[in-house]
Amino acid sequence: MKTIAKLGQEFGEYVIKVTAELLGSGEPKSLSEMERQVRGMLQKLGQFLLGSWLSLLEASYPAETSRCQCGGEGLYQYKRCGTLLTIVGEVSYKRAYYLCPECHKGHYPLDDKLGLRPGQMSAELESLSGMTGAQIPFGQGSDLFEALTLISLSDQSVAKATQAMGAEVGRQEEEWVAQSHDLDWLQEQERLADRPTRLYGALDAAKVHVRGGKGATEHPWRDLKIGAWFTTTTQPPTSPDEDWQIEATDITYYCDMQQAKEFGSLVWATGCQQQAHLAQELIFLGDGAEWIWNLVSEHYPEAIQIVDWFHATEYIAPVANALFADDQQRQAWIKRRRDDLWQGDLEAVIAAFEPFTAHAKAGEVAHKAFTYFTNNQHRMDYPTYRALGYQIGSGTIESGCKQIVSQRLKVAGAIWEPHNAVLTAKARAALLSGQWDIISSRRELSSLPLAA
Ligand SMILES: [Zn+2]
Repeated sequence: MKTIAKLGQEFGEYVIKVTAELLGSGEPKSLSEMERQVRGMLQKLGQFLLGSWLSLLEASYPAETSRCQCGGEGLYQYKRCGTLLTIVGEVSYKRAYYLCPECHKGHYPLDDKLGLRPGQMSAELESLSGMTGAQIPFGQGSDLFEALTLISLSDQSVAKATQAMGAEVGRQEEEWVAQSHDLDWLQEQERLADRPTRLYGALDAAKVHVRGGKGATEHPWRDLKIGAWFTTTTQPPTSPDEDWQIEATDITYYCDMQQAKEFGSLVWATGCQQQAHLAQELIFLGDGAEWIWNLVSEHYPEAIQIVDWFHATEYIAPVANALFADDQQRQAWIKRRRDDLWQGDLEAVIAAFEPFTAHAKAGEVAHKAFTYFTNNQHRMDYPTYRALGYQIGSGTIESGCKQIVSQRLKVAGAIWEPHNAVLTAKARAALLSGQWDIISSRRELSSLPLAA
């Protein structure tokens, strides 16, 4: 068996060799050139070290047998070379190979123990390149990744890594869904959980351009539904004209491209992880979309429902624009409606739109506003919400839509395979939620046989 001292000596000799090569390579033209060369050298040293370390884990004289997955005893054959694609580049190592006489399958105990995937990306490389792909388009991602790490990956490899992480998010969600239907687990939560005092939930959707079915010439835009859980200590605004931003803390985003009913089980399952159902105060923010409030009422009947203030006010101006040519009159009319809405006088707001629902020019928009305020009036008691210190803006979830969809999925000209869009979105949601390390570890653990 190779000893640490022996490997240390080999490493020392290797350092001397590459140092001599580096320093003997002639006069450098710039500091940048020197930096690049030193970086290249460090990478070579890294490969040497990682390879040595792996060899150190393997005995010189391996055991004669090793337990096979089928339950039989694999017989030692010889040491076989494997290549790992790691964050320091390609690393070659040797490990014992066993063949099982019963099932005729071969296995490598070292690979199994460490979850090594020869010929594939290492877990660390996958996590880092996947993180890059969750941040920026895959093509740009592979270029940036190579510039920063000297590891050259194809666009497809970056895409694959990102989507593998997204798939891991999906597996975690499946576990959560199972837990959220498990009565024992739920009862346990009730006993143990440190109940949130005030928790916010928010829902929204944004359109993603996806490929139509097989042979389709039309490529539809489909809704990616996005949810957020968060808390905040920001106070709500004190006047309707204040330009305010919610500073949410502990934001967790989740998303999927499903019908509302299916998405509802994810709303419930992610909520269970936040103890949303046990919160002393649970507040949901959203625009007026019916699916949102149906889901909230179904899963959290006790929650306080609040329609986003900005969405609500957007219904006012179009009516004023159609009614008045005079700017002063128009502004005055808008201000009165806004003030009434701010004061929570929904009766006055609704009454202001009603007479115009059949108006020649304003009829359509007035009818829309009338319906919107009538249907959502119980979600617009803004003075009460403000008095209680509740947020009345859904900025947190809109920011989630923007970061997940506008900034990442809406790449110029991109038409996504729906499944890949969902996986990429889930990876990005995990990254934005500060969950990347958890997802990476889960993914690495899942490649170990004991976890399977
Ligand atoms: Zn076997």
